[in-house]
Amino acid sequence: MPRTRSRSRIESARSDQKRPSRQDEVGGSRDSAGTCKGFDPVLRQSVLAGLALPLGLVSVTCNDAEPDVPRGAAARCSELATRQLGLPGLVVNTAEEVPASSGAELSYPAHCAIGGQLDARQGIDGKPYAIGFELRLPLENYSQRFFFQGGGGTDGVINPAYGDVINTAATNALTRGYAVASTDGGHATGAADVSFGLDPQARSDYGYNAVGRVTLAAKAIIREFYGRAPARSYFVGCSNGGRQALVAAARFAEEFAGIIAADPGLNLPQAALAQAWDTQQWMRAATPGQLPKDAFPQAALSALSAQLLDRCDSLDGLADGIVQDTESCQLAFDLERDMPTCAEPGAAACLSAAQKSALQNVFGGVRAANGASLYSPWPWDPGLGGANWRFWKLDAGFAPLPFNTVIGAGALGYVFTTPPDHPDLSDGGLAYQLGFDFGGGAAKIFATDATFPESAMDFMTPPNPTKLTTFKARGGKLIVVHGSADPVFSAMDTVRWYRALLAADPEAASYAKLFLVPGMNHCSGGPATDRFDMLSALERWVEADVAPDSVVATVNPGNPDVAAQGWPSTRSRPLCAYPTHAVPTPGASDLESASSFSCR
Ligand code: CA
Repeated sequence: MPRTRSRSRIESARSDQKRPSRQDEVGGSRDSAGTCKGFDPVLRQSVLAGLALPLGLVSVTCNDAEPDVPRGAAARCSELATRQLGLPGLVVNTAEEVPASSGAELSYPAHCAIGGQLDARQGIDGKPYAIGFELRLPLENYSQRFFFQGGGGTDGVINPAYGDVINTAATNALTRGYAVASTDGGHATGAADVSFGLDPQARSDYGYNAVGRVTLAAKAIIREFYGRAPARSYFVGCSNGGRQALVAAARFAEEFAGIIAADPGLNLPQAALAQAWDTQQWMRAATPGQLPKDAFPQAALSALSAQLLDRCDSLDGLADGIVQDTESCQLAFDLERDMPTCAEPGAAACLSAAQKSALQNVFGGVRAANGASLYSPWPWDPGLGGANWRFWKLDAGFAPLPFNTVIGAGALGYVFTTPPDHPDLSDGGLAYQLGFDFGGGAAKIFATDATFPESAMDFMTPPNPTKLTTFKARGGKLIVVHGSADPVFSAMDTVRWYRALLAADPEAASYAKLFLVPGMNHCSGGPATDRFDMLSALERWVEADVAPDSVVATVNPGNPDVAAQGWPSTRSRPLCAYPTHAVPTPGASDLESASSFSCR
């Protein structure tokens, strides 16, 4: 079979350009007869007819060749603002060509950048709302793929839709030929303003509706611009974006062929309870005048991290600073037994009784007054010594509070409680978290009333999260990634969901895989191999049916936690599909290379 089938009798004006060498890196696939599934002749003709393009300017070949982009399309970018796009409520405000840019931090190809909004309205709080979005359409090398870039935090801003291919360096989906969309989640209040939670529709938009609406809008515009719908659609996000990804797999299963959910806030309102709980525990170990960061200086966490390594590092067969066997470590490590107790906090390599008590309560997970679990426990992992762990759990730096307080108190008080607690946040949220009542208050995330007919757990979580029937039936593939030392959303919560999914559907591993990243903090950071290209793995799975059982991960040489460990900047390890984990190959000589490990 020739690499490039001469399906096209219309030679590309750019046919002398270098062609990507690997089919699975640029997408599309052929069936066993070698027929291109990405762009059939009928569709090709419809594109040509629809765009009235002159012959000789279009490349139409299968996916290992130059993808199809009508050269005349660029002239149509500005027209998108005035076109009827067939979707009520959709307004395109701006449509302009952006020339290619090549920079150290960011590069992208020439593209058409769309700014628009959906469903403009006035909220019950009297404020204007709309679902804002951005869509960027490559003018060259369009791979016929759509990429929805997940949001983060409480959204409120439209992040530029370059297509963050999470956990990779210096690449983005736009450069990889994707059309890319992003959204503000239905409120343009800015990243820190949670007052949108006083409007019920804004809550629903943030929870799920913005993703659904923007997906429809993006696909309508893509059809108009390129003359056909995208061949494949992907959703990629971390944190709240990871939560959106899992919601999309359940609510919008027909819209996405491949989904990456990284460090997902699967049960985000419950995690917000845990944030308040953690603050209360930290302060129990604080002396008058101290804040959480003072009660737990970095030296205490570093000592705890070292003790965890002492108990757990070799369980995977190699003392290398990485605890691959996370589950065995939970059984092997006993804080009370393994960590020396010192009379006064601050002594070397020990923790005070109050510090140990607080840590036990935090890692055990938030509980109601009657002892009922309100969120999952957290896994012991040496990554708790990482800078990002400290940022979220104890000290945001720009504020003297945990970032889990700075962002979490407002989310809980305005967006997740029904009716909204509406707290005074002028102190950064500390008093609200410290005063939160886990007796009756926790029920507010499950509550509804006449004004707020959906509870936070309804609008924030996937409905029936272990039932992905539609996604499965349509051949969708889901990759979930979670740092074992994520300080925001517990990796144990994700593991619990994944095990429940496997229990509900014994075939679930054929369409959903979970990769734990030992040591990794929230979305990146921590003493970990936190660079990996899950998007390429997902493309191969979706488009060539090659399931990812392991994915190579490398360290980020600029990660201070890696430098502190003294690891070589070339270190790599395989990430292994749960429940397997990486173990060294007996007799292997280069133990800094992923090739010396296998998944067991
Ligand atoms: Ca190890």
